[in-house]
Amino acid sequence: MHLAHGDVETPSFMPVGTAATVKALTPADLRDAGAQIVLANTYHLWLRPGLETIANAGGLHRFMAWDRPILTDSGGFQIFSLESRRKLDDDGVTFASHLDGSEHRFTPESVVAFQQNIGSDVAMVLDVCVKLPASREQLEEAVRLTTSWARRSAAAPTRAGTLLFGIVQSGLDRHLRERSARQLVELGFAGYAIGGLSVGETRAEMDATARATAALLPAEKPRYLMGVGTVRDLIAAIDCGVDVFDSVYPTRCGRNGRAMTHDGELNIFNAAFTRDASPLDPKCDCSTCATYTRAYLAHLFRAKEMLGPRLLSYHNVYVVNALMRDARAAIEAGGWESFRLARGG
Ligand SMILES: [Zn+2]
Repeated sequence: MHLAHGDVETPSFMPVGTAATVKALTPADLRDAGAQIVLANTYHLWLRPGLETIANAGGLHRFMAWDRPILTDSGGFQIFSLESRRKLDDDGVTFASHLDGSEHRFTPESVVAFQQNIGSDVAMVLDVCVKLPASREQLEEAVRLTTSWARRSAAAPTRAGTLLFGIVQSGLDRHLRERSARQLVELGFAGYAIGGLSVGETRAEMDATARATAALLPAEKPRYLMGVGTVRDLIAAIDCGVDVFDSVYPTRCGRNGRAMTHDGELNIFNAAFTRDASPLDPKCDCSTCATYTRAYLAHLFRAKEMLGPRLLSYHNVYVVNALMRDARAAIEAGGWESFRLARGG
């Protein structure tokens, strides 16, 4: 992807920096860990610190001191998970802030404008997310409104430097997914996300839906599967033809003592690690693994020292980015299938 703040090689993983920070990691850490792009969230930044503060800083990149690309998601997912605190109509959605109860309104146009004004490299359209399980009527209505809002987003004023991605919605219903994808592709977005997955369906259901949906999207445009971040899910999604991913999984696990390694995941709180002088992941060449022992990391977590979550978050982000780097190399060398099988896909 050729973006305003640099090129992003695909497949690519975006660490999640919801509130303009990837928790516990500095921009230098993220660069060292191989991150080429991060994700930030419109809903959270809209409420705090707000447009004025970010604009005064000269945009989101300067505000958070990250000079590589940023994708912002539209906030649709957050608003629709507010349940009782929001009111949906054809024109947009009104909601109460989870911080102070103040009332805000998102429209397709205002959400695109916000993302442009903070200088996002990739802006996502406002979409309508449905909680599963949902009736066919609810899903049809969500697709109708998502397409209508996507059309308005596509017609909104553009800003050089911000690309706009559409989001295919609608649960697991194959026919409605097809309808959603077809209607969005007609609008000619710069890329397409597969939304509404990784929300409680089975892995088999997610894989089948992601594969079928990816096949409906133009091969020459980036395809983005939202909310996927385990090694197994990433490999399955790359195999479906998906190019870009985001998830809080690596950093959330890191903060909680769960390490993603080349031989599966491990919990640093396990008693065996308190006397283990080996690195966290002997096959990893990150600075955490090069410098510290499992025993030391286990000690940090048990003593609730903040360095522990920081070192494990760094390692996990490094591991996922290394997976993407190795996947790209395997694809380029024509060895994807053997790579996929070797990494448990
Ligand atoms: Zn490591």
